Amino acid sequence: MHISANDPARKSFVHVPENSDFPIQNLPFGIFHTANNTTPRVGVALGESVIDLAALAALGYFNDLGLDLAVFTSETLNAMMRYGKSGTRAIRNRLADLFDAANQDLQGNKEHVEQVVLSQADCVMHLPVQIGDYTDFYSSREHATNVGSLFRDPANALFPNWLHLPVGYHGRSSSIIISGTPIHRPKGQQKPDDADPVFGPSKLVDFELEMGFFTYEGKPMGESITTEEAEDYIFGMCLFNDWSARDIQKWEYVPLGPFLAKNFASTMSPWIVTLDALEPFKVASPEQDPTPLDYLKFEGDKSYDINISMSIAPENGEDTVVCNSNFKFMYWTMVQQLAHHTVNGCNVRSGDLMASGTISGPTEDSYGSMLELTWRGSKPLTMKDGTERKFIQDNDTVTMRGYAEKDGIRVGFGEAAGKILPAK
Ligand code: MN
Repeated sequence: MHISANDPARKSFVHVPENSDFPIQNLPFGIFHTANNTTPRVGVALGESVIDLAALAALGYFNDLGLDLAVFTSETLNAMMRYGKSGTRAIRNRLADLFDAANQDLQGNKEHVEQVVLSQADCVMHLPVQIGDYTDFYSSREHATNVGSLFRDPANALFPNWLHLPVGYHGRSSSIIISGTPIHRPKGQQKPDDADPVFGPSKLVDFELEMGFFTYEGKPMGESITTEEAEDYIFGMCLFNDWSARDIQKWEYVPLGPFLAKNFASTMSPWIVTLDALEPFKVASPEQDPTPLDYLKFEGDKSYDINISMSIAPENGEDTVVCNSNFKFMYWTMVQQLAHHTVNGCNVRSGDLMASGTISGPTEDSYGSMLELTWRGSKPLTMKDGTERKFIQDNDTVTMRGYAEKDGIRVGFGEAAGKILPAK
């Protein structure tokens, strides 16, 4: 099925401000409620509005799509995602047609427009997916090299497996939260140099600049998804801040990897931008040397040119951008991650989340964590208010933003923000 929704010539009759993340070519999916109707339901962002898909369905605008219309009044996107790529593509194509300025079908009925076009300011966003399993990869060569240099040995920063497979670990989904949810500084064991372990609030709370992707229902257990098939199993992407407590991490991570240093919270953006909407922004990923094994090989451009940034704002203070990176720096692509994840027969399900790992670029201002940006605290960053940061302080708000832009079309992700409150 053609992705007619991506037509760059389209304009919507719904106002879209210049530089909006949500033009009619985006149409990302989320779950929201309003004061007037507190039932969580499926919505799509358009400019400064939210399109109420439950209301559109009730008015009959999806009647011929062959879908169970109850999926739009679901509290999560999982039910809708079970229709797979053809289902969500058909919904998005229909929405693009309905909201096209050249089409009077909906536009001509002012009452209907009033019922389905809501102000984003009146909408409360929910975690959009019931996340089954969450996997975090470690796929940025620059990040893995920086961390390997800081924690171990600059001469052998990458472990021998790193250039041969997308390293990852199974994370925890229960503490993945929606943008705007505050987090208490985590407590745990830390081991000062040359002293016994101590317990207390982490002193080294950090962000990790990542992006996540959600899967459709995969194949039955025992089967694998190839790199060629992988895009058909990916619904869309979000911004993802994988909060990390570096002092807890350093002491606990041997030999099984991160545990309590990572599972206290991860913040995601509320809108899932479909892989379909990102299609025009495809670019090549870094060349891979050595050539990976056959099951990890792929044809064509499989990365995306997505600008991503992180900023820190002290309480009641201004944002300071501390990092500008890009998704295209990722060494291992999403199709390779999914092929690797399933090559042993592991089954992925509708609503599983895979995160990229911290996305660091080649320059010092493109590193995706404070650990790297301040080189473990040895080079503090200066905020706009003159204060310095080595890591994240209490009452700091950390905000991730991201967008792709080409030929005058900007497809954005909004933001993923979280405030660190003092330890409980
Ligand atoms: Mn991570």
